[in-house]
Amino acid sequence: MTLHIPTPCIESHALGQASGRRVWLKLENLQPPGSFKIRGIGAACEEHARRGKRRFVSSSGGNAGIAVAYAGRRLGIPVTVVVPETTTERARALIRAEQAELIVHGKAWHEANALAQSLLGENDAFLHPFDDPLLWQGHASLVDEVAQAGIRPDVVVLSVGGGGLYAGVVEGLRRNGWNDVPVIAVETLGADAFAQSLAQGYRVELAAITSIATSLAAKQVCAQAFALAQQHATRSATVSDLAAVSACGRFLDDHRMLVEPACGASLALGYGHADALGDAENVLIIVCGGVTATVDQLRQWRQELSEEA
Ligand SMILES: *Cc1c(COP(=O)(O)O)cnc(C)c1O
Repeated sequence: MTLHIPTPCIESHALGQASGRRVWLKLENLQPPGSFKIRGIGAACEEHARRGKRRFVSSSGGNAGIAVAYAGRRLGIPVTVVVPETTTERARALIRAEQAELIVHGKAWHEANALAQSLLGENDAFLHPFDDPLLWQGHASLVDEVAQAGIRPDVVVLSVGGGGLYAGVVEGLRRNGWNDVPVIAVETLGADAFAQSLAQGYRVELAAITSIATSLAAKQVCAQAFALAQQHATRSATVSDLAAVSACGRFLDDHRMLVEPACGASLALGYGHADALGDAENVLIIVCGGVTATVDQLRQWRQELSEEA
């Protein structure tokens, strides 16, 4: 038993037509807490439980915090999530609904994180949202499932925030003997720390995040992601917030599933930026999911971003 579920990998007729390729979707949005994060975080929480930890602590108000809260409830281990005041009411409610203790502290994430760190006792485990080898190993299981399904992609498309998903997928490609399958790492403009790092040749730290894709809002990717990009064929792509939000809307119509702009960024490659896919015939898009957006919010973003454009 794992805390994540095996997810379907389906062929998308709509994205196939839009991009002129065969497009496969790994539906991580179907994970019970709504995103791929539960793969790595679930595996890490189980390991911490085996090591005798009695509480899980997180400072993520996004899908990572929700996954920690879910894992704790399933394992019967208390969870404390410290989030800044900017965390939406919806995210707070989702964390509380998993019976986690929610502490709202500070104007920005670093203040919430500092409080979370100060709470840590000997029997507590801190769960980082992306920079942890336990997480990468857990995320890698999604590639195992694709291989077991008998699907061999020519390229894998995924979204990058802090680079935990990317690091896990590269690990999964390697352990399945797919060292030659390239990865396209997609970010929104304004949250493009990975793209800038690959272009500059060092790990760039962004001065500020200006994208609405909050799940991609890491100012710097983890060292492991940058190191793997030097070893594994990796291309970077950036899309506008409007392209990411529009892709969410089209995906909702085409597949009747709602995902965040962080995930829409990857879908946007199939819908409108197919040139970035190069000559790949079989494309695997990781539908990373996300639960903090709503239909109303998507509509509002789309309107605001269209007016700006
Ligand atoms: C966390 C997250 C990402 C980014 O993952 P990283 O491991 O931080 O690169 C992308 N999309 C969604 C929906 C997420 O929750």
